[in-house]
Amino acid sequence: MHFPILTMPTCPKCGKGNFGIKEFQVQDANFRHYAIMCTSCGCVVGTETMQDDERINQIMAKLNGLEIELNNIKSSLMRHGIY
Ligand SMILES: [Zn+2]
Repeated sequence: MHFPILTMPTCPKCGKGNFGIKEFQVQDANFRHYAIMCTSCGCVVGTETMQDDERINQIMAKLNGLEIELNNIKSSLMRHGIY
């Protein structure tokens, strides 16, 4: 992707150009929300949502475990000539 050359973003409140990201609570939200904030005055200049990677990793670990179990059952059944 090619972007035109632009000046660096500045805070609309204090005019400085250093930003940080911080998680904040949103009622009834399914995703984590992050505010992009000016590190000088705390003005919020943007927001981002992120999926809960920790929960997805837990689900993936459980799925991997189930796959191994299924393969064990499958090879056991094959050994007994059932599958
Ligand atoms: Zn600011």
